[in-house]
Amino acid sequence: MSQPQHSSRTGTVYLVGSGPGALDLLTLRAARLIGEADAVVYDHLIAEGVLDLVRADAQKIYVGKESSKHTVPQEELNLLLVRLAREGKNVVRLKGGDPFIFGRGGEEIETLFEFGIPFEVVPGVTAAAGCAAYAGIPLTHRDHAQVVVFVTGHLRDGTVNLDWPALARPNQTVVFYMGIGGIGEICRQMIAHGLPATQPAAVVQNGTSNRQQVLVADLDTLAGRVKEAGISSPALIIVGKVVSLQKKLAWFPPKVFLAEPVCHD
Ligand code: SAH
Repeated sequence: MSQPQHSSRTGTVYLVGSGPGALDLLTLRAARLIGEADAVVYDHLIAEGVLDLVRADAQKIYVGKESSKHTVPQEELNLLLVRLAREGKNVVRLKGGDPFIFGRGGEEIETLFEFGIPFEVVPGVTAAAGCAAYAGIPLTHRDHAQVVVFVTGHLRDGTVNLDWPALARPNQTVVFYMGIGGIGEICRQMIAHGLPATQPAAVVQNGTSNRQQVLVADLDTLAGRVKEAGISSPALIIVGKVVSLQKKLAWFPPKVFLAEPVCHD
């Protein structure tokens, strides 16, 4: 990619979290900025319908990313944002969930800082918050979990290199992002480091969207059940006693209560 060019007016880059899937979980601020932007740079994990909010004459640039194949290398993407801003455009860089949680948002705005490009960050509902709410699994609960941990389960060289003793503590909820590929190893390690094999654990796929699937099991059986059900990314793994509440608290999709038949004598 060529070096970014200067223009008389520099635009601003807005790093915007688009939430986990449901369009109406977008913040009002995000919706306004998306509607006003001259250019929108987005990847594959953004809520359906978000792009309909983009102005018809705005540039839409797809830089899709899936864990194994990076469509646009991160460095090139960082410079793309610089170039667009230097062309005088106000740019929305859309990210799934929250831009500062496993979103490389920090790396993108570090480059903007180095090039002197003005930027703002708009938080979004992160997948853990969205999936937990829509699955009926409170992440903390006075009887079950005083701590909640967000951790990446992304495999490096086929292993998940994490602080297992810290993750396998009692009375906490652990949410694994990007963990589906390593789910067998994750469950094994949690048991090996002290959690009971019967510890409740769940997977939420496509959380908050109308394709949401929730699978509840325990550490011993979760990986097998996920394989059987053919669940794949994007999905979160939630481990902790709070998962046992799902049976009572699941509310989505909302139940339809039919009105009592009215008798007319
Ligand atoms: N910045 C994002 C996370 C990006 S990492 C956020 O704050 O949510 C991508 C991972 O997020 C996926 O591999 C998956 O584990 C999780 N994820 C994102 N959207 C999801 C959804 N709708 N349902 C389940 N998991 C999701």
